[in-house]
Amino acid sequence: MEINFKGHRALVTGAGKGIGRETVKALWASGAEVVALSRTAEDLETLKQECPGVETVCVDLADWPATEAALSSVGPVDLLVNNAGVAEEQSFLQITQNSFDRCFAINTRAVIPVSQIVVRQMIERGVSGSIVNVSSQASQSAVKNLTVYGASKAALDMLTKGMALELGPQKIRVNCVNPTVVMTRMGREHWHDPKKVAEFLSQMPLGRFAEVEDVINSILFLLSDKSAMITGSCLNLDGGCLTS
Ligand code: NAP
Repeated sequence: MEINFKGHRALVTGAGKGIGRETVKALWASGAEVVALSRTAEDLETLKQECPGVETVCVDLADWPATEAALSSVGPVDLLVNNAGVAEEQSFLQITQNSFDRCFAINTRAVIPVSQIVVRQMIERGVSGSIVNVSSQASQSAVKNLTVYGASKAALDMLTKGMALELGPQKIRVNCVNPTVVMTRMGREHWHDPKKVAEFLSQMPLGRFAEVEDVINSILFLLSDKSAMITGSCLNLDGGCLTS
């Protein structure tokens, strides 16, 4: 399915590495103007070289006021991908106030100021828009030592539904994708033990991790008019894991 985003402007968070970086490249290749937001300046520099014309914003999304300031002159955006995320591995008894706050600040809370800025502009311009939040299979199925991460993504699923409910009348659709493990930096950090991997995959009907491309295909579908009647959905990219 060919999707053309010519004439659309997109903003992608967590665009320096992994799923976010590849999403920027796919949107750019499909004709969109793209604003790439991330935290490490060097990543954004190399991305600009790979995709000439991509605009960049360097900010730590854990800082709400800094995020608002950094995006104050971002201009009109039609497509938003809230992708930035962190996953600190720790047992339940190791969780601290700081680790909890940091995880929720990035994975859940930051979606609010970024989306508010984009949505206000969409409403002012009277255009329809599409927002995709990158959640996780871990929002619905507990993963050992990722309790806070899973909780932050479960909150993101419900934030997505609330946004869809309130923004639908303005013709703004909001959905999330919920991938299983993807071998990005984040995936490699948590899934380097072959025994753990084999055990996990043995429970999965499709028997493999997701490729970055699997996630991007779904993000692009949800951003596009091909999904015009879908809002408030959590699209599981889990190889069937969550069916049992
Ligand atoms: P990744 O390779 O670690 O990349 C994450 C990107 O987000 C990096 O560019 C990172 O920048 C940026 N980022 C993190 N914290 C940020 C902050 N406070 N402010 C601005 N940018 C920030 O991770 P990924 O695997 O692509 O993950 C992308 C999304 O997919 C996340 O929401 C993750 O939870 C979700 N997901 C991943 C998997 C998986 O197995 N990989 C599975 C399900 C869902 P720095 O490098 O500068 O930190």
